[in-house]
Order: sequence, then structure tokens, then C-alpha cells
Amino acid sequence: MTEFIIGEDFPKNQFEFEKRFSTEQACRDYLAAIKWPDGFHCRKCGHQAYWISARGLYICTLCESPNSLTAGTVMHGTKKPLTYWFKAMWWFTTRKSGVNAINLKDLLGLGSYQTAWLWLHKLRDCTIRQNRERLSGTVEADEFVIGGQQPGKRGRGANGKTIVVAAVEKEGKQLGRIRLQVVPDCSGDVLEQSVKTNVMPGSTVATDGWKGYNFLDKGSYTHVQVVAAHTAKKESVLPGVHLVASLVKRLILGTFQGRFDPKHLQSYLDEYVFRFNRRKSRNIGKKFMRMVQQVAASTKATYNQIKAGTFSFSLLAN
Ligand SMILES: [Zn+2]
Repeated sequence: MTEFIIGEDFPKNQFEFEKRFSTEQACRDYLAAIKWPDGFHCRKCGHQAYWISARGLYICTLCESPNSLTAGTVMHGTKKPLTYWFKAMWWFTTRKSGVNAINLKDLLGLGSYQTAWLWLHKLRDCTIRQNRERLSGTVEADEFVIGGQQPGKRGRGANGKTIVVAAVEKEGKQLGRIRLQVVPDCSGDVLEQSVKTNVMPGSTVATDGWKGYNFLDKGSYTHVQVVAAHTAKKESVLPGVHLVASLVKRLILGTFQGRFDPKHLQSYLDEYVFRFNRRKSRNIGKKFMRMVQQVAASTKATYNQIKAGTFSFSLLAN
């Protein structure tokens, strides 16, 4: 019988992780406890008694349906042991900076770059928690562009560039949580949708003078328009978002040498937000446990969906 974990049970450091999750059985038990926090429930009939098959399936004793720990999640159909996935999840959550597929391929000794690339995208797609809380309090919002050098006209699709809306909580001079969203243009409709998705009504939103933010004057937000004096540098107007924008650009430059496929940018931004918003958390084991929870609750993603960059976008819409 699997011992189900009650409450918060996670390895506190690298040593504990390696000691605890060295066997397939240990990973399976942990994943089962996360998947069924109130004990096993057959997905078909809800019955609570089971036996475990040689292939690690939880077979319902009443209707005999096989219940898989990985089916229907991003691990669907995996041929690799769970110990590999656990190692990848631990590594992904405990790294401080960005990660790339070559790092993961070397870490796990995977035969193909493509597998490492796919796994990494799947883990990135698990960094967004469904029903996560929106930003609140005082929030700076602005757009910035990644890729392409020439300045383009605002409010239209930028040539060859990807536009990102950044929203940053301000706690005095300190930065709180952030959100980053790839958008097609800087029109009022697009910015309104982005702010409403990412910022709680009732918050104070600081923006520059761009007319695309005029919707903030009539809605449920308090709008603070920060207009620069002729001599002021743009960075001093909305310092939080400009700092975040420069950090993101540095990440893209450092992790991917500036080469990235725009259709995967949202996925890289999600990973960045995940790390940034947890930067003050010292408890690496807890971050790992949350990742396992996200992976256990994730939905199946095909190679084609990920390749096309449509998977994380579908999550974002929720
Ligand atoms: Zn059943």
C-alpha cells in the first residue's frame, strides 16, 4: 500500500532529494500521494481500493480500470523512468538562472537533444498555476520589445519584434511579483485584456501616457499616468518595469545567445516569472513539491503542440 503524504512533505536539500528519490518506487509513491491527496480514487468509478500492477498501474479492485500516474499529464506516454522526471523537476526548480536543453541533456544523459528540448518545454508549461492570484496593490504596467533593432510605431504590430506587456508590483522601492505576456500589438483592446488578466480590480496601475491605457480611467482601477519631463530618461518614469525588461533581455541573451523562436517566447517568459516570483523563497524543497503538483495536474501536450508554440498559449487563456 502506498503511504499517502499528509500536509507538506518535501526534501529540504539536494542531499535529501538524492537520498529519497533514487528509486522508481519512491518517485511513484510521492507522485501518487500528490495526485490523490485524499487517498486513491478510481477515475472511472470513484472506488478507493486498488492493487498495483507490475507496470505500476493502480488497478481498481471494483471495476478493474487501470489508473496511471502519468497518463493525461505532460509525462503522458513517457518511456523514461520517473527518477529521470524527478531529477529534471528538482533541477528545474532549484536552479537560480535560466536553463537550456543542452544543460538538461547532459544532466540526465539523454540520447537526444530533441527529448531534452521537449521535456524542458513541458516543465516550463507547468510553471503557470491555474487560478493563480492576480497582481495587486500598486502595479506598474508597460510594454517592451524583444528582437529586432529598429524602433517601430507603437500601437501597431512591430516589424520582426515580439511585444511583451510587463506588469510589476511595487512595494515602496522594492519589486513584488511580476507578470509577462506576449501580445500581438499595443492597441487599447489588447492592453485592456492583458491588464485585466494579470492585475486585480481595485489596484492602482501606473503607466506612461500611451492612449492604449485610457481604459484604466473608466474601469475599476486607479490610474496613475506618469509622464516624463522632456529631459527625463524613460527608465526613471516606470523604474520597476524597465528593470524587469532589462533582466529579461539579459536572460534571452545569456541563456539562448539571443536566438529564440518568437513562438516560444511566452514559454521562456513563464519560466522567468516562475523564478522571479519565488526568488525570495529559501525553501527549495517546497518549490520542488509545487512543481510536482503542477506536473501531476497538467494536461497532455503533444510534440506538435509544443513545436507550434500553442500549448502554453492555451494555458494562458484560462
Ligand atoms: Zn473503478
